[in-house]
Formats: sequence, structure tokens, C-alpha cells
Amino acid sequence: MDAFLRLRQPAWEAGLGGMSAAGTFWQVGRSLLFGLSVLGLPAAKAEVKVNLADGFDFPVGKPNAEGYYKARGLRLRAPQHFGEDWNGRSGGDSDLGDPVYAVADGVVTFAYNVRTGWGNVVLTRHAYRDPSTGEVKYCDTLNGHLHQIMVKTGQAIKRGQQIGTIGSNFGMYPAHLHFEIRHNITIGMQRSGVPSDLVNWADPTQFINQFRKLNREWRPVAVPTGTYQDYGGFSGL
Ligand SMILES: [Zn+2]
Repeated sequence: MDAFLRLRQPAWEAGLGGMSAAGTFWQVGRSLLFGLSVLGLPAAKAEVKVNLADGFDFPVGKPNAEGYYKARGLRLRAPQHFGEDWNGRSGGDSDLGDPVYAVADGVVTFAYNVRTGWGNVVLTRHAYRDPSTGEVKYCDTLNGHLHQIMVKTGQAIKRGQQIGTIGSNFGMYPAHLHFEIRHNITIGMQRSGVPSDLVNWADPTQFINQFRKLNREWRPVAVPTGTYQDYGGFSGL
């Protein structure tokens, strides 16, 4: 039984158990269009302001994943795994309930128990200046199978702030954090049809090491919202 459940996990994380494969990409422009008022109601916000990230930490054992190890890494070819699995060094469920931290300043774009193979999920969005080009870029993180969610959709977050705890999806898996970083901020919970390449997905450890320290800029920047499709009736920011 346990082996069976372990085998199911990559299927969920690869999107094979997703709810709808249709229309993965939403354009940011669509949310702008939806924001136009037709009934005299205030227009919906199409962007929010966040601090530019001053660096990226690891999501467990902050800031350097001390006390944890990466049980599985990013794998873009079958069997696919679009992120990393972080476990406590003591093994088993010893890490159940351990803190999961925001890797950088940003905003929560999705924080719900979506059940299925994911359970409690928190997605966060970050803006950062790539030192190699000077360009401001965006990325999303996904934190899956959480025991508890400690933030709400739309909430601003700071690097190192606790956003939840490590879980097992209510006993479906041995406790661990499934953690992703995406360059593509339209994926949300609908990964079907998204090309499995490094344009859309980052290798989390490589990304964090690359942007470990960034200059603090005391100036908020706008990040797009309304980029996700609904998932199981849940809407992102
Ligand atoms: Zn995983």
C-alpha cells in the first residue's frame, strides 16, 4: 500500500492527475480585461506591488536547508519531477510539522487545500533583478503537501517568514516538502501542456544558489496577478 502511494506521487506532481488540461496559458491581458467594470463595480486589481527580492533562501532549515536533505531533484524527462523533495535528516515523518519558509519577499498567489494528490498548497510570487542583465524578472514557487497553511492568498510575505509546515498530505506520503520554482508565472496548478524545459521551470537549488544575495532596493515593483486558471474551484490572486 505504501509503495503504491509512493508511486502515485510523481503522477500528481507531473500533472497526470490534474483536473483540466485545457487552456494552460492565460495572458496577463485577460485579467486586465476582466478588471474593467461593467456594472459600476470597482475594477479588479490586475497587479500588486511587492518588494524586489534581496535574495533567495532555502524553504526549510532557513536559510541554508540545515538539517534537511534533498531526496529528489528536478527531472524534466520521464519520470518527471518538476521540483525538489526536502526531507528532515532524521528520516520518516520526523519532519512532520516542521516550518516551511518564504524563500524571498513577495506575495502569496494561492493558498488552499485542493485535496487530490496535492493537499495543502501555497504558491508565492517574487520579483527580482537579475544582476547579469539588470532586468526585473518574476518567478513563482509551489509548496506542496503542507500539514498547515499559515498565510492567505494575496498576503505580502517576507523572506524567512513561515508560510506553513511540512506535511504528508494527511498520511498519503511520508512527510516531505515538495518545492518548485517556476519562471513561467501562468502555470499555477495546471501544469498539463506546459513544455517541460528550463524556460518554464527552474532547478530550485541552482536558482537559489544563483540569487542567494541580491542588492536591497527600497522600491516596490508591480507584479502581475490573474495569471492562473481556477483549480478545483479555487482561484489564485
Ligand atoms: Zn515531489
